[in-house]
Amino acid sequence: MLNNDCIFCKIIKGEIPSAKVYEDDKMLVFKDIEPKAKEHLLAVAKTHFKLLEEADEAGRGLVDYMLFKIPGIARKNGCENGYRLVINQGADAGQTVFHLHIHILGGQTLDW
Ligand code: 5GP
Ligand code: ZN
Repeated sequence: MLNNDCIFCKIIKGEIPSAKVYEDDKMLVFKDIEPKAKEHLLAVAKTHFKLLEEADEAGRGLVDYMLFKIPGIARKNGCENGYRLVINQGADAGQTVFHLHIHILGGQTLDW
């Protein structure tokens, strides 16, 4: 289920362009528009929900699926020496887009 007011849903629908690196029927991976590392990808499920705690069983299955697919996608996109996954949850984490996404950060040694 997608949301008409959500920027990542619009990217999934192709209404907003993105630099896609991987897509299948369940997920989309594209480059972050303001990269915080040499390689910075965002993995999104093709279902709109904001927080892990809002995910129903199907949503949890999608998170599991994304974690299963990410290693191969990261390796093919400049993160063969390792990478960091980040999932911001809510205000204190600085979440700005309210569609669950997994940041994939790599292509360099990360500071912490
Ligand atoms: P958050 O802070 O919610 O965890 O991360 C949102 C991320 O989405 C940020 O790193 C931001 O740069 C990225 N972002 C926001 N709008 C767009 C967009 O229109 N296109 C792309 N590719 N990335 C976006
Ligand atoms: Zn959305």
